[in-house]
Amino acid sequence: MALSVQAVRGMNDLLPADTALWQQAEKILRETAAAFGYSEVRMPLLEKTNLFCRAIGEVTDVVEKEMYTFEDRSGESLSLRPEGTAGCVRACLEHNLIYNQEQRLWYMGPMFRHERPQKGRYRQFHQLGVEVFGLNGPDIDAEIIMLSHALWEKFGIADSLTLQLNTLGSSAERQIYRESLVQFLEAHFDDLDEDSRRRTHTNPLRVLDSKDEKTGAILQDAPKLADFLGPESRAHFDGLCQLLTDSGIKYELNNRLVRGLDYYNLTVFEWVTDALGAQGTVCGGGRYDGLVEQLGGAPTPAVGFGLGMERLVLLLSALNKLQAQRAVDIYVMGSGEGAASAQAKTAAFLRKALPHARIMNHCGGGNFKKQFRRADKLEAKAAVILGESELKDGTLTIKDLSNQDAPQQTLAPEAAVQALQQILQA
Ligand code: ATP
Ligand code: MG
Repeated sequence: MALSVQAVRGMNDLLPADTALWQQAEKILRETAAAFGYSEVRMPLLEKTNLFCRAIGEVTDVVEKEMYTFEDRSGESLSLRPEGTAGCVRACLEHNLIYNQEQRLWYMGPMFRHERPQKGRYRQFHQLGVEVFGLNGPDIDAEIIMLSHALWEKFGIADSLTLQLNTLGSSAERQIYRESLVQFLEAHFDDLDEDSRRRTHTNPLRVLDSKDEKTGAILQDAPKLADFLGPESRAHFDGLCQLLTDSGIKYELNNRLVRGLDYYNLTVFEWVTDALGAQGTVCGGGRYDGLVEQLGGAPTPAVGFGLGMERLVLLLSALNKLQAQRAVDIYVMGSGEGAASAQAKTAAFLRKALPHARIMNHCGGGNFKKQFRRADKLEAKAAVILGESELKDGTLTIKDLSNQDAPQQTLAPEAAVQALQQILQA
């Protein structure tokens, strides 16, 4: 009977051809975070459900309808993390990392949201998260934006991404604005789309980023948050804009950018591309000065971003910025009495001598014709051949598989290493 079990919808396998690309991307993400002096943290994928309810907000899309929540065997409600910030703050508080001290942190890993799967939107996806605690000025907001920009530059995709920027003011300013926005929305209630009507009284700011055309037209005349900002919020935003300008980072002001999660204040930003269709936001973040206190810590300013790695890899692939990578550089083959042992020893010797080369030892015997076919299929650059005479006198025969005209060479082990090095460098 055929066993037919399939993956959970929206949860992807990354196969060898994919992981080769992902590893290139991940390497640049790690190196860039390190280059800015940020340190890695790793949190569990599961947290207590109420962490997310308290941090993200009960009436957000994420908590209302996207979380994977279940009771474990002891009856405790747990959720797969839909984002990393809440868990990162929880970890910092639990291990006393942010009391009276600053932290610049990053993490990378899977997140889970029960959304409708489509290109660039999955139920298990991956984020690079960057979070900074203990700094309240616009300089650090600018720094994390510069960090993201440095990533685009290293990937060679800076021209394909636009920075959208907004400020949400302080929570007090937002409160007053909210009242005036609700009044406006109520006056146009019958013309709003259904989602926006529902949000008018639960989460009115979210109405601002409604994708509905008619609602969009109505919002043209809605009160603007910018008109409700006090001098401090204004100065913070102006300071950030100036720093970005000084470092040559272009931005667009978008006063309808509010972000999906409740915890943001002041700075919010997104990097968007039009090369990916509807799922065009590759990276989004902002300031969340109230969250640490809300989760039981001392008031601590904080700012961060989340970068969607699937969308990044999709964009890199669309723009041809990742190289397909050979899995094997050197294929070691052999035939005859004692070949298996000599192959294993030779492969071990070569791995020590050429630590950066990918060296695969042929297993399973068979004639040389079959073994060469394997090496070709793997697109190995060189073959190391151990036939009867090599086995007898301890030499290695080297064949350059990337250059059919190059003659085969039978050499002593040390000379063989040199020859292989030359082939790999060509
Ligand atoms: P969207 O508006 O696309 O739903 P979001 O505002 O919900 O995004 P955030 O919570 O800000 O997303 O997460 C940061 C980034 O993570 C997004 O900009 C996106 O690149 C990525 N991301 C979010 N949800 C998904 C998903 N379901 N699948 C793939 N990537 C995602
Ligand atoms: Mg979303």
